[in-house]
Amino acid sequence: MSDVSYRGRLAPSPTGLLHLGHARTFWMAQQRAREHQGCLILRSEDLDASRVRPEFREAMLEDLRWFGLRWEEGPDCGGPVGPYEQSARQAFYEQTFHRLLETGLVYACQCTRKDIRTSIAAPHGPDEDPIYPGHCRPRDCTPITAVRAGMNYRFRVPPGEVVEFVDGRLGTQRFEAGRDFGDFIVWRADGTPAYQLAVVADDHAMRITEVVRGEDLLLSTARQLLLYRVLGYASPKFFHCPLMTDETGRRLAKRTDALSLRALREQGRTPESLLRKMSHDHPSSSSSS
Ligand code: GLU
Repeated sequence: MSDVSYRGRLAPSPTGLLHLGHARTFWMAQQRAREHQGCLILRSEDLDASRVRPEFREAMLEDLRWFGLRWEEGPDCGGPVGPYEQSARQAFYEQTFHRLLETGLVYACQCTRKDIRTSIAAPHGPDEDPIYPGHCRPRDCTPITAVRAGMNYRFRVPPGEVVEFVDGRLGTQRFEAGRDFGDFIVWRADGTPAYQLAVVADDHAMRITEVVRGEDLLLSTARQLLLYRVLGYASPKFFHCPLMTDETGRRLAKRTDALSLRALREQGRTPESLLRKMSHDHPSSSSSS
């Protein structure tokens, strides 16, 4: 009998081939779920219609299985188990978005990425969204009642507020709203939810108790904690895994296919040999609890 009080998830995006870094994060998610005799849910994060392709979806499932990852498929896990596809959950995200609108903390924004990049002088990392300078932010927090097509909607972060959480691997993490991240998009001009909103809505609805993800998402976790709070949802625990780099020190990305699971498999590598290499190269990836 499993301890269904632990519910983890694998949340891959079928926007390219999965690489060794994804495999390691998912492997750790599986390990954590097994250590707690909990269950693991698969959720395909396929909201970005411009990048999702059916062949990536098929490859994703096949590569995950080849690597030895398994997820729940039955009803016996103390709650909904999926597998899920975000693209089939639009009506549910709309409800969550409307709930968020009622807080008065969301505003319509017509700035393009280019407008934002050109209007700010502060440097930002290549992976990080620049801090939104507030051009469209209204003075008052008046709830929006009519959503207009063709507009992005942003969540207003409380400037200066420190978001703190204890990560299962990294310990205490602190980020300051307005300095480390700014007002962020929760709903897109094309009428779809942004990642931050969809992931909070789903992790809450799927009763996830611990989110295991890459360290590149630490700032997203801080943003999401603000959403949990204003939506009145209890937040899960978090465990951020180290990122994997190639031999030149560059972070693995879907753009670089060389270390894709598919390519490694075609070169004759086995999941066992890859796991051995991962634990040899990155012994620090093991959990602290
Ligand atoms: N779908 C995201 C990715 O593939 C992960 C999202 C998450 O862990 O919240 O990077």
